[in-house]
Amino acid sequence: MSCVEKCPRCGGQVVEKEVKEVLYGGSNTAFLTVMAGVCLHCGERLYAPKTVRRLEEVEAKLENRETTGFRTVGRSFQVAL
Ligand SMILES: [Zn+2]
Repeated sequence: MSCVEKCPRCGGQVVEKEVKEVLYGGSNTAFLTVMAGVCLHCGERLYAPKTVRRLEEVEAKLENRETTGFRTVGRSFQVAL
């Protein structure tokens, strides 16, 4: 499935994995699980072009507050220390 087997950054081995991504848009946050190539050496993540597009779409929706269809899984808090 992965088109890249070597990390472009360090040349390490890249494996296909499910990774958790956190996206921010405006004051909204979304958590996603996506497939990505992950370098075993430096942790660099490589995404398929369609995954990148999907992530950008979600980011744009967050920014425009078009969160219809997104499931609420918690609340975000800002804490002053
Ligand atoms: Zn690497």
